[in-house]
Amino acid sequence: MEKLSVVVPCYNEQETVKIFYREVSQVLESMNVEYEILFINDGSKDNTLSELIELYNEHRGIVKVIDFSRNFGKEGGLLAGLDNAQGDLVTVMDADLQDPPSYLPKMLEVMRTQQVDIVGTRRVNRKGEPPIRSFFARKFYQLINHFTEVEIVDGARDYRLMTRQVVDSILSLREFHRFSKGIFAWVGYKTVYLEYENVERVAGETSWSFWGLFAYAVEGLVAFTVAPLRIATICGLVVSLFAFLYMIFVFGKALLFGDPVAGYPSMVVIILFLGGIQLLSLGIIGEYLSKTYMEVKKRPNYIIRKKYE
Ligand code: UDP
Ligand code: MG
Repeated sequence: MEKLSVVVPCYNEQETVKIFYREVSQVLESMNVEYEILFINDGSKDNTLSELIELYNEHRGIVKVIDFSRNFGKEGGLLAGLDNAQGDLVTVMDADLQDPPSYLPKMLEVMRTQQVDIVGTRRVNRKGEPPIRSFFARKFYQLINHFTEVEIVDGARDYRLMTRQVVDSILSLREFHRFSKGIFAWVGYKTVYLEYENVERVAGETSWSFWGLFAYAVEGLVAFTVAPLRIATICGLVVSLFAFLYMIFVFGKALLFGDPVAGYPSMVVIILFLGGIQLLSLGIIGEYLSKTYMEVKKRPNYIIRKKYE
């Protein structure tokens, strides 16, 4: 029988993990597969770990818990889960039940009947989300898809069912700055998406602030495209061209009409404008440099304090 691994990163999910387990195990029992549920406690500050250990003690062999030494972020949790999953099939889910477990049987069926390697899910709406957030999210997808060779589907969740081969491909990418949405798309393979309406969390609160998401978006762009560097170059070229034309104009004017001292305001505007562009370009370069710096260090994405398995 095939084995299915369910990977669940958890950060401050004390209210949700048991509800999650109940719902998911119910669905899995009906599915005629062997399964394991891998919880990653990502340095939670509440009682998530003790809740997980209780689950582990009640369901040995099925529940496994990986406890991190601190909070490493969801990407670290996801990676640790994939690193440790033993299944022939692997699925990734949020602990808050925003990824409906009831879809699992359908996903498995689609995978088998349509012979695909990945069955993903995407939200068709963003119900219950602040409109401003939805707006920026849409803009982000437009931007990143415009500049990268891979198609990152708008609204695609991390919730997906993958074959072992896909998981191994994902694991062959050992970059430090992991932007999973991009990595999932980058490895390719035959993918179909099931669509569903957005579901709000059962309990607890989202750990994403607006600025957190913004930083995540910048991270994604920097990880998957060098287009901003090129934009800086193009800006530089355009500005130089204008400066050159303006120089000819100024010389011409001086030759024809003499050169009284004037033009202080235009001078200030030009200096400020150029200074701004230079700082922006430096910032963009710095963004890439800092990422390169972190990659070069080759630090691990997570540190495990203890495994319960
Ligand atoms: N998560 C994590 N580490 C973090 C933040 C979040 O492991 O630093 C987990 C969290 O427990 C949840 C999943 O990642 O299972 C998604 O988080 P959340 O629900 O806050 O994000 P959203 O659904 O709003 O995108
Ligand atoms: Mg959530």
